[in-house]
Amino acid sequence: MQVNPGILHFVMKKDIHPKLNTCVVTCACGNTFTTVSTLPSITVEICSACHPFYTGQSKFVDTEGRIDKFSRRLKLAEEKKKKADELKAIKSSKKKGPEVLKEMTLKEMLQKAKAEEESKKQSEE
Ligand SMILES: [Zn+2]
Repeated sequence: MQVNPGILHFVMKKDIHPKLNTCVVTCACGNTFTTVSTLPSITVEICSACHPFYTGQSKFVDTEGRIDKFSRRLKLAEEKKKKADELKAIKSSKKKGPEVLKEMTLKEMLQKAKAEEESKKQSEE
């Protein structure tokens, strides 16, 4: 939409507003359009010609590499989680060890103890 600054002089009170002039807005995508401003020119990062809302295309506007930073942090978090899961698996396998011993009957434990004593005696001799 083109605004004629001359028409604003009819509706605005005299001598209280800053001087308005036509201003060229330049976008980072290369699009330019004119509007009315106190500034002679404006430079913007995004405009209606390139914003995903207007274009309907999925596009990431990556300023200062924030997406890269995020994906790096995500990768680190995933690695950390993997390590934690491995530790959990090790801990749970260690827990299973004593449970196997508990499943031994008293008779079996006595037999094991006797066998150990006999092996000790044999080694002493
Ligand atoms: Zn643009």
